[in-house]
Amino acid sequence: MSDNFTLSDDRPSEECGVVAISAPDQVASKLAFFAAYALQHRGQEAAGIAVADGRAVRLHKGQGLVSQVFKPSKLDPLVGPYAIAHTRYSTTGSNSERNVQPYVVETLEGPLGLAHNGNLVNADDLRNELLENGAGLQSSSDSEVLALMLAGAEGKSWEERLAKVMPRWTGAVSLVVITSNKILAARDPWGFRPLIYGKLPTAGWAVASETGALETIGCTDMTEVKPGELLVIEGNDLRRHQIIETKEPQARCTFEHIYFARPDAVWDDLSVHTARQSLGEELAREHPAEADVVIPVPDSSTPAAIGYARVLGVPYNEGFVKNRYIGRTFIEPTDELRKQGVALKFNTLSENLKGKRVVMVDDSIVRGTTSGQLVDLVRAAGAVEVHMRVTCPPIAHPCFFGVDMGSYEELIANKLGVPEINDHIGTDSLGFLSVERMMKALGRDDGYCNACFTGSYPVPVQLNLLTTKQRFDGVIE
Ligand code: AMP
Repeated sequence: MSDNFTLSDDRPSEECGVVAISAPDQVASKLAFFAAYALQHRGQEAAGIAVADGRAVRLHKGQGLVSQVFKPSKLDPLVGPYAIAHTRYSTTGSNSERNVQPYVVETLEGPLGLAHNGNLVNADDLRNELLENGAGLQSSSDSEVLALMLAGAEGKSWEERLAKVMPRWTGAVSLVVITSNKILAARDPWGFRPLIYGKLPTAGWAVASETGALETIGCTDMTEVKPGELLVIEGNDLRRHQIIETKEPQARCTFEHIYFARPDAVWDDLSVHTARQSLGEELAREHPAEADVVIPVPDSSTPAAIGYARVLGVPYNEGFVKNRYIGRTFIEPTDELRKQGVALKFNTLSENLKGKRVVMVDDSIVRGTTSGQLVDLVRAAGAVEVHMRVTCPPIAHPCFFGVDMGSYEELIANKLGVPEINDHIGTDSLGFLSVERMMKALGRDDGYCNACFTGSYPVPVQLNLLTTKQRFDGVIE
């Protein structure tokens, strides 16, 4: 554990994956392990699994990838038919062991474990309230606030207690809870982040952030946990309760389609892979380019590049080979290697680029550090022109609902317009998909949160509470 930890060091925004298992005839921790493994892309900093056997809740968690945290010696003692799991992503500085989930606390009603994907925008008020009432907090994570509020809530059952506290949580909450003898799962009434459940092959149920994780462990009959809905699962028995009325319009995260979810996910009844192809097609109609080849920035942009190339009738090909294993590493590169930046992760296929006018399709430009380096690599491989096309609008506003995109100062589109970004990254031309075309590609009129593009947040955000690096103080609506 870090010695110099301070609460203000921590960035509360988190991208995460969550899992819950009720498997009366199987070892739940193994199912949780493989489902969490399938959600590794949602968080590579830390992982944890808590299990229950009818009496106790046992926990193992730590920093690193799922496969690094869980060796057989750590997984084998986690026995019982119930499990929850978590994969956590956070930016440098917030990678404190105290923030690793699940949280497990002892309560008057027995042990309680909780893991959460999303971000509360009123966490600071709630945290202060807990402190004023004499609670001690170990971390800066919203999830601890959720756990302590739930532990202290009134009610005859955990479902009653959750129904009592959940209306007080403003923001994105896709939550899984474990007690000694049941699983709960709930989603905020706006529906910011995904949460899906499915039937396990022989008996029981599983809940996860994405359908791909459920399919990995053999689930069928996949259904979305509705915004404002609570699931209570005991053995083979699943009960659903609408504990908060769904807020209209809903606020699903568009960025799940664009970048975050695995392409095999189904989100809002849309295949993410198909959605990405449609985004690429719409991008080609909005910003065509005279080119000889269309290449993706792998992996998230591959379907979009295929769609883009198809509409323009330009050949699609691979321009980069990505090292899929480098991910986040604890080994710091040397200064020399650091200068190579994205070259550590991407190498070019010059035979597909040399002498060509290249369209490079990427899903997003966030801080603007990656794109310029990729453009340099493509030029160094012999491309005569490099045109960049992006499958979402410029990201000019931070996300406060669970995707860590950086603060206002860090977002390049908050500082520069499109022509200046084009100059900055050194492209011959640059085109971003507009909000209207993006929603057209998804076939949806509303029900989505596009705040990172528009600055129009679905719920008021207390910006001053979130990070000292923010540009504004106070509340924006
Ligand atoms: P940059 O503009 O240098 O910040 O990086 C943009 C690249 O990062 C794009 O290729 C995206 O695929 C990827 N990306 C987008 N959003 C995120 C995020 N929240 N966390 C990590 N990578 C991201």
